[in-house]
Amino acid sequence: MTTLDENNFRTIVDELYDGLYFVDRRRKITFWNKAAEKITGFKAEEVIGSSCADNILTHVDEAGNNLCQGHCPLAATLEDLAPRATQVYLHHKLGHRVPVSVRISPLTDDAGEVIGAVELFTDISNHRANELRVKELEQLALIDKLTQLANRRYIESQLEKHLTEFQRTRLPFAIYFFDIDHFKQINDSYGHDAGDEVLRFLSKTLIDNARPFDLYGRWGGEEFIALIRNLDADNLLSFGERLRMLVQHSYLQWGNERLAVTISLGGTLAQSDDTLDSLVKRADRLLYTSKKNGRNRLTIG
Ligand code: GH3
Ligand code: MG
Ligand code: MG
Repeated sequence: MTTLDENNFRTIVDELYDGLYFVDRRRKITFWNKAAEKITGFKAEEVIGSSCADNILTHVDEAGNNLCQGHCPLAATLEDLAPRATQVYLHHKLGHRVPVSVRISPLTDDAGEVIGAVELFTDISNHRANELRVKELEQLALIDKLTQLANRRYIESQLEKHLTEFQRTRLPFAIYFFDIDHFKQINDSYGHDAGDEVLRFLSKTLIDNARPFDLYGRWGGEEFIALIRNLDADNLLSFGERLRMLVQHSYLQWGNERLAVTISLGGTLAQSDDTLDSLVKRADRLLYTSKKNGRNRLTIG
């Protein structure tokens, strides 16, 4: 496990769709993330240090009761340390009410003493749901449905982007083109569903072992591309070999059988005069050499 430093933590919580804030024991707000700003209209600097009871958010329930005066779920959790989930309307800075679903948990220190509470809230208005739907659709257009890897369109756009960047920065990157060996036999022996499951399992193996900036995509059928940044000639071979071994030594439990596949790979570094087409073609030819030479192997060039 790596530990999260303050910066990582901020990046993560600021990328949440959900509003998140912390309060201390006196219900003073000590932290307020970006989504909280977006959902409520209040900037962090406007709310940090004040308390919910200062009429900032003035949560009301379905019946219009002001929760900050009476039945504040945050105050209740600070008292009995029980997590709570509820739906309330919060007050947007511009005046309108925003329906949110709210989850509250107590925060304790290492000694178990309560030091405050954390509230996570999700905008459940239609407007927000619509935004999320668009986001989802955007994702769908870039993600391969079966494997959840990047789809070909996304891989192509990323390769273009990296090539352009490479021409400017010279930061090296590599691609590996790979194809499952004798995949037809899996389909023929165990059925198409088993074949699909093998594609999923292989993709999961790739994702689980990826570093944050590695990109794996499904090029089509049982062909994949990995885009690996900051690889130079010295580790082009070792990285690809690791990939090959990883797949070779994993298997999918299918009933009583263990389905294992191997991959053949072609690995190559981007060159300054490469186009998307020349780069992918080179990797594809290297892959073909791996197939010709007996499969379950890597050829670099
Ligand atoms: P090679 O080692 O030469 O790559 O042999 P292969 O059998 O893997 O190659 P071939 O190109 O002849 O067959 C690929 C097979 O992959 C054919 C196709 O039915 C199967 N395939 C492609 N996409 C999918 C998919 O989404 N699901 C399943 N189950 N099979 C797929
Ligand atoms: Mg194949
Ligand atoms: Mg193929």
